Amino acid sequence: MTAVKAYAALSPATALEPFQFERRALKPHDVLIEILFSGVCHSDLHQARDEWGGSIYPMVPGHEIVGKVVLVGEHVKKFKAGDTAGVGVMVDSCRECKPCNDLLEQYCVEGMTGTYNNYERDKSAIAQGGYSTMIVTDERYVYHVSGQLSLPGVAPLLCAGITTYSPLKFAGVKAGDKVAIAGLGGLGHMAVKFAVAMGAEVTMLSTSPSKEADARKLGAHHFVLSTDAEAMAKLDSRFDVVVDAISASHDYEIYLKLLALHGKLLVVGLPSKQPQVNPFELIKNRRSIIGSMIGGTKETQEMLDFCAEHNIVADVEVIPMQYINEAYERMLRNDVKYRFVIDMASLKS
Ligand SMILES: [Zn+2]
Ligand SMILES: [Zn+2]
Repeated sequence: MTAVKAYAALSPATALEPFQFERRALKPHDVLIEILFSGVCHSDLHQARDEWGGSIYPMVPGHEIVGKVVLVGEHVKKFKAGDTAGVGVMVDSCRECKPCNDLLEQYCVEGMTGTYNNYERDKSAIAQGGYSTMIVTDERYVYHVSGQLSLPGVAPLLCAGITTYSPLKFAGVKAGDKVAIAGLGGLGHMAVKFAVAMGAEVTMLSTSPSKEADARKLGAHHFVLSTDAEAMAKLDSRFDVVVDAISASHDYEIYLKLLALHGKLLVVGLPSKQPQVNPFELIKNRRSIIGSMIGGTKETQEMLDFCAEHNIVADVEVIPMQYINEAYERMLRNDVKYRFVIDMASLKS
């Protein structure tokens, strides 16, 4: 067992606070990672405050983890001490069903084991996440990270990165495709970077004119105000793909209308109110709406390799662990570009 320092939510109503617990002793396929940086995802906040129901306490959030391998179990082949490694949203799955065998473990028929706010598969303990100094994870769910990339910016790739990379790949986005991204936050900013790197002609759609300069800095070729009805009408049936990365409640219709023949609306934003869909807009151009949830182990590694090749990382604001409650409040005000990342050294000292 390894004693670790962490920050945890002890109840939905209390702020995160210092917490200590023990990581399990290494099993033959386990990797012990010293966590260097941990990204702060909006779903951390939702779950710490039990906004989705069923939260398990004490809860150490965090599923955007990057660090150094310290020790490996006796059967570990993929990693050795000193390797840079990442852990994302999932730390286990049944490993027997069709999605698991297809390395699409995020769609495991028994349900994947989340990195936190879940019990370990053998029910031995509560799985605890990345707001901690160390993590022990089965090597199947651990990824190689290029030492060439800036590590704080790598952490969010493990959730925000794969969440947007996977649907763009599933939709077959390629050079010359016209892609629109709706919503410029943690997910949207990664979607812009990936779509640009895949060679697409990228249009940022936003309700806020102040986002134009930022969108162009991220590589977007065009910017259109989604509240400008006239400008939006001009985009009718123009795009191969629209990525909907908006978490505020909204209808799909205005984005469906933008899709050309066989166009795909890729949904990664999770508004709390169920969106309306107009079937007349859906049948036109044989459009489809496709949902997508993170990525499997194979594709997550592929995404990290793609990022190394194209020098892609998230834009981040590095914070000490002690700042986390203030960071949550700022996230609620959308006051972050585009991800907070905790420097775990702040917890060790
Ligand atoms: Zn996340
Ligand atoms: Zn499975």
